[in-house]
Amino acid sequence: MPINIEGLKFTYSNGGPFEKNALHDINIDIQNGEFIGIIGHTGSGKSTLIQHLNGILKPTAGRVIINGIDTKQKDLKELRRQVGIVFQYPEHQLFEDTVKKDISFGLLKQGLSEEEIQQRVISALHSVGLDESILEKSPFELSGGQKRRVAIAGVVAMMPKILVLDEPTAGLDPSGRDEIFGYIKELHRDFNMTVILVSHSMEDIAKLAGRVIVMNEGTVYMDKPSGEVYTQPDQLEKIGLSAPQITYLMKRLKTILPDIDENIFTVEAA
Ligand code: ADP
Repeated sequence: MPINIEGLKFTYSNGGPFEKNALHDINIDIQNGEFIGIIGHTGSGKSTLIQHLNGILKPTAGRVIINGIDTKQKDLKELRRQVGIVFQYPEHQLFEDTVKKDISFGLLKQGLSEEEIQQRVISALHSVGLDESILEKSPFELSGGQKRRVAIAGVVAMMPKILVLDEPTAGLDPSGRDEIFGYIKELHRDFNMTVILVSHSMEDIAKLAGRVIVMNEGTVYMDKPSGEVYTQPDQLEKIGLSAPQITYLMKRLKTILPDIDENIFTVEAA
């Protein structure tokens, strides 16, 4: 199994006065090429979970195995090559004086030739809808949306097999959001990348992901193909969605999955 999370438990400040159990007995298997959406309230454990995928956090109990690599091992170089994580507001991590240097930063450690680095940088730029003309610019001269895309390009340039994105469109306007989601969809399709997208927006997840994991209070509350999650309004209500939100989602589902059985819309969402 490419991603195998078994009995994962994580406690912040384990044994200390501010001990906090953030994840309890998480079991998730993910296949190559899946597009997974992770949703859940603030504090439900989404960020803690994704930080286990490249070994930033290590399980307090249980294990996380990525393509045969146990994240508990010390040498995480190969793991970090395979799993790229785009954190929230990734543009805050841009620090070089040119876009080119920022995008190639991770590549420099990989022993690639100058030409290869150049090629990877350009192809990563293209994959987020930018071009060579901005290579020598300072990231700080760019618009908010462009900065975000440069930051994503820096992760994409590493050509990770698994791309994890934590609220990649937070703070962008609707057209900026649609653009970024469009590029993520293409990366998934063209490179068969496994994509794990954390979002608080059910609608975005419904549009993109084939499978949805709903987190609640540090546990996996639901893990199903997206269509099935949206056919269980009573379950959605339990995680705090209002009746109008559920009705809206049901309507949207009809446009996304036109073949779906009409009967599900007769379920009373109140
Ligand atoms: P989400 O990403 O779903 O908002 P988090 O994974 O950030 O949730 O948080 C899960 C739980 O762990 C929350 O109760 C949060 O307060 C707690 N938590 C997160 N980071 C820390 C930390 N560095 N120290 C202690 N507790 C934390």
